[in-house]
Amino acid sequence: AKVTRMAPSPTGFMHLGNLFGAITDERLAHQSGGVFYLRIEDTDQKRAVEGGVETIIRVFDEFGLPFDEGATIEGDNGAYGPYRQRQRAHIYHTYAKDLVRRGLAYPCFCTEEELADMRQKQEAEKANFGYYGKWAVHRDTTLDEIKKNLADGKEYVLRFRASGDGIQRFKLKDLVKGELEMPVNDQDVVLLKSDGIPTYHFAHVIDDHLMHTTHVVRGEEWLATLPIHVDLFRALGFKMPKYVHTAQLMKMDGASKRKLSKRKDPELALDFYRAQGYPVISVKEYLMTLLNSNFEEWRLANPTAKLEDFKFTTNKMSTSGALFDMDKLGDVSKNTIALLPAGEVYEQVAQWSKEFDPELHALLTRDPAYATAIFQIGRGGKKPRKDIAVWSEVKAYLDFFFDELYTPGSAYPSQLSEADILSILEQYPALYDESDDQNAWFEKITNLGVSLGFAAKTKEYKQNPDAFKGHVGDVSMVLRVAVTGRTNSPDMYDVMRILGKERVTQRLQDAIS
Ligand code: GLU
Repeated sequence: AKVTRMAPSPTGFMHLGNLFGAITDERLAHQSGGVFYLRIEDTDQKRAVEGGVETIIRVFDEFGLPFDEGATIEGDNGAYGPYRQRQRAHIYHTYAKDLVRRGLAYPCFCTEEELADMRQKQEAEKANFGYYGKWAVHRDTTLDEIKKNLADGKEYVLRFRASGDGIQRFKLKDLVKGELEMPVNDQDVVLLKSDGIPTYHFAHVIDDHLMHTTHVVRGEEWLATLPIHVDLFRALGFKMPKYVHTAQLMKMDGASKRKLSKRKDPELALDFYRAQGYPVISVKEYLMTLLNSNFEEWRLANPTAKLEDFKFTTNKMSTSGALFDMDKLGDVSKNTIALLPAGEVYEQVAQWSKEFDPELHALLTRDPAYATAIFQIGRGGKKPRKDIAVWSEVKAYLDFFFDELYTPGSAYPSQLSEADILSILEQYPALYDESDDQNAWFEKITNLGVSLGFAAKTKEYKQNPDAFKGHVGDVSMVLRVAVTGRTNSPDMYDVMRILGKERVTQRLQDAIS
């Protein structure tokens, strides 16, 4: 069984990368009968915002990613807490003391000026910036000097004594990236800041050990500092977890790929999907196609299976830059929505509109059976209608079912004369019978058209256009425009039945005057 964790910082901003990782974590854990837990990495006070933890919990809850243990709104749940790093200071300090005692960590009294100076020297030598062995000026400070500095009240950070020289290399297997070869860590990174707060490097290593994490899933931006973490696991005498470094999400910008950016791309924020009204399952479904290369094939073979039935494997994960494409997401979402039962669509739209479109919400919930009947159109059957990708499109899809939203149309087929349009509008109401089945209904429209000089079939018309005024499709279009105000609508037979004879007749009459 695998133990995985989500370890976000409570910045108030939840993004696609968080969800990408969380799906991976959740699948790996639950597929193996393991545990998926939530840890709050709130050591960076500058980035933490009020309500940040609540946002994290709400978002994962909305996306249907249930944690088994960890931080919850009510407090912590699980045997290895506290699950918020700010409450774990005593634990980090215990390990810090142990490292100091064993000579693996030391106080560093470097001032800003000293650090700036070091940076300059490193730049001159074209070395990477870092507090490296050769520049680690306080590594060998004597105990007496340390005592004196402390007595003088000098500020210090606690640094790690790196084990390597940055030249020797070691190998490590990442479950996504495969075998990695990296330089042994030579950076004396900060473990505790001057206020005693741990850095990410130090805190997460201790937490992942104490919380029994077996698989660390995180973005590939952490690969660069992996040698530090490996060195820390070694120094602390902890067993290494397995690593799953996930590909960064990219998008096309003109002809080139780039990382999604918080500033430029609203679609990076998870709240974007909520506001637009993408069903949660659409977003998850699409991310799955980016996460596992064999998912789409599986989905084709199992169109209605639950996502959880798919066997998620790390060796099918993309090893670099996963391209996130809004159009593809839209297509996936249309497919997903087309397969939902009408009642479910109703529920979801009602819920979405409650927050984001109160007018629509009031109309839909006034008569749930009526609204559900609308969503039933084109559903079921072999080829369900795929026309809605997000709930924010629903209003335009069904406005004409509500007198409050309906606007009469005028886009009648341009090749038709006024007189012919009028004849259709005038003569149709007498023919419309609500008890007709679809065939009888269509036959009446065809017959009306033929009696007015239209071809019964488009093909017939195309073969000899001069012999006809148009074809039966034009006749239907006239009715569609008059009844719905639109040139594009769901099946007119269903539309008319739901609107009822009275309203259909009324709209046709209004269209004449
Ligand atoms: N707190 C880190 C972040 O927000 C977590 C990285 C990790 O999963 O280890 O990115």
